[in-house]
Amino acid sequence: MTVGYVYHPIYLEHDTGNDPESTQRLVAITDHLQQCGLWAQLHALAATPATPRDIARVHDPALLRRLRAQAESGGGLVDADTVVSPRSYDAALYAAGGAINATRAVLAGEVQSAFALVRPPGHHATHNEAMGFCLLNNIALAASWALAEGGISRLAIVDYDVHHGNGTAEAFADDPNVLFVSLHQYPFYPGTGHWREKGGEAAEGNTLNISLPAYTGDRGYRQAFQRLVEPALRRFQPQLILASAGYDTHWSDPLAWMLVSVSTYHIIATTLARLADELCGGRLVLTLEGGYSLTALAHGAAATFAALLGQPYPDPLGPAQEPERPVQELLQAIARYHGLP
Ligand SMILES: [Zn+2]
Repeated sequence: MTVGYVYHPIYLEHDTGNDPESTQRLVAITDHLQQCGLWAQLHALAATPATPRDIARVHDPALLRRLRAQAESGGGLVDADTVVSPRSYDAALYAAGGAINATRAVLAGEVQSAFALVRPPGHHATHNEAMGFCLLNNIALAASWALAEGGISRLAIVDYDVHHGNGTAEAFADDPNVLFVSLHQYPFYPGTGHWREKGGEAAEGNTLNISLPAYTGDRGYRQAFQRLVEPALRRFQPQLILASAGYDTHWSDPLAWMLVSVSTYHIIATTLARLADELCGGRLVLTLEGGYSLTALAHGAAATFAALLGQPYPDPLGPAQEPERPVQELLQAIARYHGLP
């Protein structure tokens, strides 16, 4: 099977200084992929900037003008933790364009699956606001491109970053052609994504929020995929699966409280690839969101690529030392709420 990746050096020019969402994150991933021999097995896909027409499918053109003006005037803070540097506007266009190109390559059959190694990340960016390290919503832009120009009419997005993908949820709340599944710590930043939130009136039930308590770990995430993600995707029958891949659920992550290990990232990617095989000709596109422990991030991304290639990936960091919180009853309640078998 051919597995593609998107990368562009401009992603390192989004200069956030000492922010946890730093250029070092992508350096850690690409260095490790080269050292462990996975890089050479992957098919490089181009990154080009998203066009204003692409962006307008999700974002208010005023947001784009604001980001551009801010970058051109030397940069600054968008919110307490979201930085715009002089090259951030261009990097954001290439990040969105990278996610779109990964999707285009998968739908064209150039590769079976692809992982866009982009930054700035995207899933918090809403119609008119950049927030939470995110400037433009890369995955929402890729999804809306696929529906407008990719020749498909139904797709699923699985967001397994530790934070709720509020921007993506907003973009498709009323779109019956998109199933949005988010697994995240709750209550937590950005505050949205309770499991009773299930989409707008036009697409009720097409938003599946799996809001998990702090200290959910490997067992809980694996059960959530089995009990909720798999049956929801089978019921929806997508023609493409997209995933917001975040590694800030790792037990060593400095920004969140979950207890996931690298071995679960391998299982998640294997599960998504198996669902894609079963439901949509193997078509799977991942795009990078968070993950702030550089070591866990590098191994998490490598475990993901190994899984897409059908190869094992030994977890060098091991499992969390703390006991994880059981979530079976919660998962059961969510399944009942969504009428899942
Ligand atoms: Zn996150």
